[in-house]
Parts: sequence; structure tokens; C-alpha cells
Amino acid sequence: MAKTIARRGLKARAVRNRLPTGIELMRDPLLNKGTAFSVAERRALGLQGLLPPRVSSQDEQVQRILEHLRGLPNDLEKYVDLNALHDRNEALFFRIVADYPDEIMPLIYTPTVGLACQRFGHIFQRPRGLFISAKDRGHIAAVLRNWPQRDVGIIVVTDGERILGLGDLGANGMGIPVGKLSLYTGCAGVAPERCLPVLLDAGTDNDALRNHPFYIGLKRKRLRGGAYDALVDEFVMAVQEVFPAALIQFEDFANTNAFRLLHKYRDRVCTFNDDIQGTAAVALAGIYSALRITGGSLAGQRILCMGAGEAATGICDLVVSALTDEGLPETEARGRCWLFDSRGLVVASRAGLAEHKLPYAHRHAQVADFVAAVEALQPTAIIGVAAVGGTFTQAVLGAMARINPRPIVFALSNPTAQAECTAEQAYRWSGGRAVFACGSPFDPVTLEGRRFVPRQGNNSYIFPGVGLGAVASGARRITNEMFLAAARALAQQVAKKDLDQGSIYPPLARIREVSAHIAAAVAEVAFERKLAAKPRPRRLLAHIRAQMYQPRYRSYV
Ligand code: NAD
Repeated sequence: MAKTIARRGLKARAVRNRLPTGIELMRDPLLNKGTAFSVAERRALGLQGLLPPRVSSQDEQVQRILEHLRGLPNDLEKYVDLNALHDRNEALFFRIVADYPDEIMPLIYTPTVGLACQRFGHIFQRPRGLFISAKDRGHIAAVLRNWPQRDVGIIVVTDGERILGLGDLGANGMGIPVGKLSLYTGCAGVAPERCLPVLLDAGTDNDALRNHPFYIGLKRKRLRGGAYDALVDEFVMAVQEVFPAALIQFEDFANTNAFRLLHKYRDRVCTFNDDIQGTAAVALAGIYSALRITGGSLAGQRILCMGAGEAATGICDLVVSALTDEGLPETEARGRCWLFDSRGLVVASRAGLAEHKLPYAHRHAQVADFVAAVEALQPTAIIGVAAVGGTFTQAVLGAMARINPRPIVFALSNPTAQAECTAEQAYRWSGGRAVFACGSPFDPVTLEGRRFVPRQGNNSYIFPGVGLGAVASGARRITNEMFLAAARALAQQVAKKDLDQGSIYPPLARIREVSAHIAAAVAEVAFERKLAAKPRPRRLLAHIRAQMYQPRYRSYV
């Protein structure tokens, strides 16, 4: 935005706004409107001749972009095309995200973003966000100051070590924070200029990637131990100095670092880990909705997770928080949650268990087989988060249907090939009785004349609203209580007509309104717990709605 307009004859309002003019204005994605600049704006802002003469409306631009997009041969090309639009015209990009979430979200986030990260070195066009590497040690605050915006509200950071179910993708992982922050704006109206994607490049242990000539990151093995912790710590402290109001969302860190860093920073700075806490809230919301169908109480459930990592233990921890909030003693609450990992049922007698599994390592005989675990524990709900495809077999679903009139079955692993079962299998093998949610998108299923519409238990229902609530209240910390409030707010947004068709989440078309409700619930906790830097507005929900970024053009003259 360097050169501002000062030329005589330009409208006073434009001068007051200190807009750049001419080609500089068109090159600023936060201000650019492309062919939608009006005749008056073109005249006033030095744009005549730089654009074709016909003025389009934003609606016409949306249709033109969509038609072109739909003609592209594959999802990666669509990702690249949408990225290019994001780089040149943010309002138009976010209008399309907000108006066509079912079509666009899978292209800018999961599953396409996984492929984009794998090909990042090849499709890289223009940098977005900050790359902070091990070589920046000692001056990370100065690197943060290079970011052109001062009022950063949300930072999504990854070190690229556990990208989705794809493993270590090093600096190529930048696609994840970029995609997540697009959802913050598209799904919750956090203004794009308040979002900062960060890739913390600590090296990569992915040899093929590191040795590839197009690799964009540091060509070194990953930092470990004290050197790694020092890099993360300098980054976190530098954010406190340069962007003191910013929330830091940790994303796609490997299992051990994810738990360690969350415990280290959650009580010191405004931070959360979406893989652990966001997943937990979306799953708990799903359980609350499912209970409206099955008729039970949360305390009456026995939950068996297939997997015992970030997602599984995050879910169990939040279920325990919900149960203790309802008055159940913590030990009893923990007893409702069970884990099953690659070595079988997680039980107290097993040696060498990782710390995050210990609260759920109950006294029980060893069970190596999942069907046997279902038979032994008689769970009311099974939740798949092990990233191993096909583990909810016909025998598992059959057993669940025998034990429960309405078994709760969540197959949350991503991407689609890793799903524990398909929607069709869940309904068919349970005789149409499963209350089902999935991590990957599945089409509606018709069984014996009944139509089921499975919806995705996707974190994007939760984290945008949590972030918006934090920004709106100026939250100084993100607590478990906030995720509990977020889960309950999400469950309340599920209508009877959703439940009637087997959907335990609201339609994505309502995501901005859903996010506003979640934000209000999160902000309310911040105000009540005196964790908010801002005063509580009288009409909180209305205030939050009014703050949400609208991807519409404003007039410059
Ligand atoms: P993680 O690496 O922390 O945990 C994976 C767990 O699975 C580990 O405990 C591991 O021991 C266990 N496991 C591995 N092989 C197994 C096997 N054969 N049988 C049983 N358990 C086995 O990963 P995570 O962050 O917990 O994510 C797990 C999966 O959940 C991924 O597919 C991820 O995409 C998905 N997920 C989905 C959502 C969503 O919104 N739907 C959110 C978060 C995670």
C-alpha cells in the first residue's frame, strides 16, 4: 500500500481512506475488486484503461469463477486456481467460500489440501504467511515484524511433522495454516488481515522430500530436544512481544510435541491445539446430538475409541470435563472412556504406556482384538480415530447393533481411505440403526426406503467459532471450559429436521451463524472467568455478528 493518492481531482473520501491508486490498488488483494470497480471508481482511482470496459457485479464474478473452476480437470488444479483468486481478490474468494461451503471447503482444506502439501514445491506461486526457520534463532521477533499487518488476531502455526494422515511434510506443511485461516474467515468472518499463517521450519526427517531439488524448506534433519524447544519457545515469546493480542493455534505437530507444547503453554499464553481440543469438541457435540436420538444421558455412555493419540485422548479428556461439570466424580467419569490402540485395549497392566493414555488405562484383562473389546466392554459408542481404514468391520457393527438399540458410530479418520467404515456400511451392517458421523465426506444413503444424510464430524465446525469468540472478547487464555461451551453450542444448532435424517451436525450452509453462536458461548466463558481483555457488550451475540467480516465490496468513492 505504499503510494497513496494525492493527485488533484480525486474524491476527498478516497484521499481520506489513503487508498493506493492504479495498478497498486489492483495488486492489493484486500482492496482489489477486479472488473467490479465502478466507472466512478475507475475514474477517481486511476484505473481507466487498466481494466476491460465492462463493469461486473460481484454476483457475476462469482458465477464466472465457479464456471471456470468446475471445468478444471482435477481438485489440485482447482486448489491452485482458488489460491490464485485468494492472492488477487480476497473479498471475491471469501464470498465464494461463504456462499458455496459444501463445494469449496473440500478444495481449500481437507481432503485436497493434503495433496497440495505433498506437491507444495511444485505448485508454489506466491508466498502467503511467514516462514520462520531454525536459522532465524535469535531474531524471530524481527521476522514477525516483517509481516505487513499489525493487528494480528489469530496465528495458525505448524512445524509440518504430522500433516493430516500424511506424516512429515516439512515446510510443505504451510498449506495447512493457510487453509485453516481461510476457514476462519470463510466460516466465522474473522477479517483476513487479522489472520497470520506460520510455518516453523525445524527441518524434516522425510529424506525423499529433503533431497528433492524442488523442496522449499531447510535441507536439514529435524531439530530435536532442547534445540527444538528453544525454537518454539522463542517463537511463542516473540508473538507475545509483537502481536500480544494474538491467539496461537498449534496444528499438525507430531503426537509427543503436540501434548507437551499444549501442557507447557496453555496456562501461559492464549493458545490451543486443534488436533486435540478442536477434535474433542466436535466429537462431544456429536455425542450430545446423538443422545437426542438414542435418548440416553452422557453419564450413561461407555465410549470406546479406536486409536489412542491426539484425537482420541482429546475426546476422552473433554468427555470427562463434561461429566465432571455434570457432577460425576473424575475417576468415575474416566471410567466411561476406553482406548484401543495398535497393541490392543489400553489397560493398566500394560507396561510403557505414553503419559496421555494413562488416565484411560483401566483395570481389565488384555484384549487384542477390537470385536472382542466391543463384546467385553459393551460400549454405547465407538469412535474411530486411528487412521487405519476398514477397522469397523461387519462383525464390529453387528456386535454394536446387538448390544445397543441405537449404537453411536463415529468413523472420524481422514482421508477417505482411512475411514473406519463407509456411511453405507455403517447403516447397512447395523440394520439402519447406527447414529453415524464421518471424518470424510460420504453421500446420503438410502436403505429400505429410508434416506440417511451423514454429516462430517469436522473440526471446521468448532475452531473458527472458538477463534472468533477469542478475538471478540480479547481472551487471554483458551480453556477446556471454552471447548465444552463450544461443543454444547454446536449441539444446540442441530435442528430436529437434521436429526430426523440422521444428521448430527448442522448443514455447512449455516456455518457462519453456527460459528457466531459458538463464538458467543466461548466469549461468555472468557467474560465470566475474567479472562477477557475487552468489556462484555450488552448484546453479545448481536455484537459478534456485527463484527464478522462480510466478503462484500465497499465503495471507494
Ligand atoms: P495420532 O497419530 O495422534 O494417533 C493415532 C493413534 O492410532 C495412535 O494412538 C496409534 O497408536 C493408533 N493406531 C495406529 N494403528 C492402529 C491400529 N492398527 N489399531 C488401533 N489403533 C492404532 O493421530 P490423531 O491426531 O489422533 O489422528 C488420528 C486420525 O483421526 C487421523 O486420521 C486424523 O485425520 C483423524 N482426525 C479427524 C478429525 C476430524 O475432524 N474428523 C480430527 C482430528 C483427527
